[in-house]
Amino acid sequence: MELKYTPEQEAFRQEVRAWMKANVPKEPLQDFDTEEGFKQHRAWEAKLNEGGWGMVTWPRELGGRGCNLIEWLIFEEEYWGAGAPLRVNQNGIFLLGPTLMEYGTEEQKKRFLPRMASCADMWAQAWSEPGAGSDMAAIRTKAVRQGDHYVINGQKTWSTRARWADWAFGIFRTDPDSERHHGLSYILLPLNLPGITIRPIRQLNGLAGFAEIFFDDVKVPVENLLGTEGGGWNVAMATAGFERGLMLRSPARYQETARRLVQLYLANREEADRDPSIREAVLKAWMDAEAYTLSTYRTASKLVNGAKIGPESSTNKIFWSELDIQMHDTAMRILGPRAELLPEAPDAGDVGTWLDGFLFSQAGTIYAGSNEIQRNIIAERMLGMPR
Ligand SMILES: Cc1cc2nc3c(=O)[nH]c(=O)nc-3n(C[C@H](O)[C@H](O)[C@H](O)COP(=O)(O)OP(=O)(O)OC[C@H]3O[C@@H](n4cnc5c(N)ncnc54)[C@H](O)[C@@H]3O)c2cc1C
Repeated sequence: MELKYTPEQEAFRQEVRAWMKANVPKEPLQDFDTEEGFKQHRAWEAKLNEGGWGMVTWPRELGGRGCNLIEWLIFEEEYWGAGAPLRVNQNGIFLLGPTLMEYGTEEQKKRFLPRMASCADMWAQAWSEPGAGSDMAAIRTKAVRQGDHYVINGQKTWSTRARWADWAFGIFRTDPDSERHHGLSYILLPLNLPGITIRPIRQLNGLAGFAEIFFDDVKVPVENLLGTEGGGWNVAMATAGFERGLMLRSPARYQETARRLVQLYLANREEADRDPSIREAVLKAWMDAEAYTLSTYRTASKLVNGAKIGPESSTNKIFWSELDIQMHDTAMRILGPRAELLPEAPDAGDVGTWLDGFLFSQAGTIYAGSNEIQRNIIAERMLGMPR
């Protein structure tokens, strides 16, 4: 691998940069867990898609731009560098999208992907249940086949933005006599079907970012099955790989936070230098963000050359989630007592969104499979240690 961009890649970077400069909203959008904020983010996704940037790695005929992973990393660097909004449909574009590309029929790809790229369909992930989080094979919600339909009964929980979503992808027990990871199927369903109740759950920042989903005799056509009946576990593992691996959290997001952290430190240097360990933590954050970037470029180069990402996606997941906590923790230490002010407080100054980011960073070691589980995967599948 040569750590240099080709002229084509440089030209691509300039193209993204120019578009972002002209189109990224000048004022930050409201939080996407509010009704108004959600509408604003959805409108942004539509605009992004009109510019051809909805999901750059997908083929053109499916609403993408046919870019490879290296170009995607460049796109992400420019996206985050321009201060563009968070991607509200991330469960769709980063998790289900690549899974559909691998397991979907041609009809399913055409039906779902272009609408996903423009956020005409907003997607939620309906996997976790009250008794099946880390132990996902314990899923109990049933989808029983009756003719050309599945009839779904049960409950899902922790479904991010299900409150605003149009569709969900879920894993359901289609064989009532099955156990553990056998007899599960991956089903796509509209969230406005009769028998579905969505109950929002309030999170640490006071907004209802999650929801529980209840299913009471919900009828879903069999054509909404992704992959084979009973083969849902393998499809779900592909999605989990995308979630922990490259797509969900590109390095550019952390590089941008590290850049803002350095600025915050410089602006508050006199106060921050009273504790020399702060300076060291800022430096470490910046270096770790760079290290994650280089490591991701290496993985992406391997993938572009035909390799597959395996359990090493778990190492990525641990790294980005812990880095995020470390960076936000350092920002809190720099800001001192001011860190607890909300951005709209009269004395907030440069407090910005650090508190919000700090609160959200706490969730990073839990979602996408908790870090304890990732460490189990590394121990057993990468290091060959006993269970
Ligand atoms: C911000 C956020 C967004 C989320 N979004 C979604 C979503 O959109 N859709 C969805 O389906 N789910 C979502 N989740 C749920 C998430 O996937 C689960 O919370 C996660 O898988 C952990 O499951 P649990 O909460 O049931 O915890 P549990 O499985 O009960 O685990 C509790 C603790 O025990 C540890 N533990 C459990 N088993 C083991 C073991 N064998 N070895 C060592 N330690 C163990 C865990 O690591 C954890 O620390 C989200 C969660 C968060 C925080």
